[in-house]
Amino acid sequence: MKFPSMAEADGRTLGDEEVAAAERVIRSGMLNSVWGTEVRALERETAALYGLRHAIACSSGTAALHLSVVAAAPDPGDEIITTPITDFGTVAPILAQNAVPVFADVDPSDGNLDPDAVAALIGPRTRAIMAVHLFGAPARVDELRALADAHGLVLIEDCAQAWLTELPPALPTALPTAAGRLAGAVGHVGCLSLQQWKHITCGDGGIVVTDDDEAARRMRLFSDKGWDRAAGRSHASFGLNYRMTELQGAVARAQLAKLPAVVAARRRTAERLLDALKGVPGLRLPRREGHAWWLFPVVLPDGGAPELAARLAESGIPARAGYLNEPLNRAPVWDVPIYGTSRYPLDGYRPNPCPEAERLVAEALLVIDWNENYTDDHVAHIAQEITKFRDLS
Ligand SMILES: *Cc1c(COP(=O)(O)O)cnc(C)c1O
Repeated sequence: MKFPSMAEADGRTLGDEEVAAAERVIRSGMLNSVWGTEVRALERETAALYGLRHAIACSSGTAALHLSVVAAAPDPGDEIITTPITDFGTVAPILAQNAVPVFADVDPSDGNLDPDAVAALIGPRTRAIMAVHLFGAPARVDELRALADAHGLVLIEDCAQAWLTELPPALPTALPTAAGRLAGAVGHVGCLSLQQWKHITCGDGGIVVTDDDEAARRMRLFSDKGWDRAAGRSHASFGLNYRMTELQGAVARAQLAKLPAVVAARRRTAERLLDALKGVPGLRLPRREGHAWWLFPVVLPDGGAPELAARLAESGIPARAGYLNEPLNRAPVWDVPIYGTSRYPLDGYRPNPCPEAERLVAEALLVIDWNENYTDDHVAHIAQEITKFRDLS
């Protein structure tokens, strides 16, 4: 059975609308967003979707995360607490701003940051918390926002895997700044990715969303070489070129219009798989509430994820164990220089052990690629192979 893949047309929603969008831009003669209209429109549409004042498009999810760290404005050597189970794009921007990543351990049920572990690591140099809504499952950002507010920290939400992830209903103590209940609107800055493997794509691309005018100003300036275009050819602050092109912007707009249907289709089939696997021994299934199903994760609390992944892969199911070779607190990058021969600001740095994350990645976590074009037959095949494996073991 062929499974639709996000690397091929059968697993993407790229069609006539995107072709028309790209053609519109090419025929206009203007491919750059400084003078074009598409990227500005994408920003307005994204801000409206999130119910926030600002959206700033940029060249990748990693660029979006870099902008969010710029908004948090750490001094060199300040610490940013984050999770060891994520894409390296979450962590690289911390290093790029000469700040120090501090890894907090995760909740073994879903791999998302454990707010108690975060709280225990807050110190005098902590500047921000970067939470990731892993695989599309809502991280506990209400608790993290309360922690951030209590300690004067910035909360960044990495929503690269979490387009339209919904948070549980607002607590009675919900913060007035929580502008909506979509992941990305609870923290000070939310970061989105439009890379090939995300829910929607323009190849590469990123967007930051925020309600904070000052954060928005800083991020926009940084994304355009510190160039305030209204002020002439004058550079107000340090920045890079993280601009999105009009081609990316126009395609992303067409994709954004399809996003609700993409997430709805993923939710429908994921919930069918949850129902089919209910009661299978030795599995901890993901909670369905709010999940956007970038991937379908399964935890095997007693281990055996590599064996199950191999078995599923043999029967043609796109599944892998662990998600990463090793959690990021164990990555080889911490043993080599960062700039030239220098490890600044990481001199003497050792990442924290994160036993729950390490166990998940080594033996307990299985991820199954998910897709809006899966049918009930795909789901039945996955359920059957998992059930067979559990019956044998
Ligand atoms: C994909 C991803 C990123 C990086 O996004 P790019 O667009 O690939 O730069 C960051 N964080 C998470 C959680 C991701 O999944």
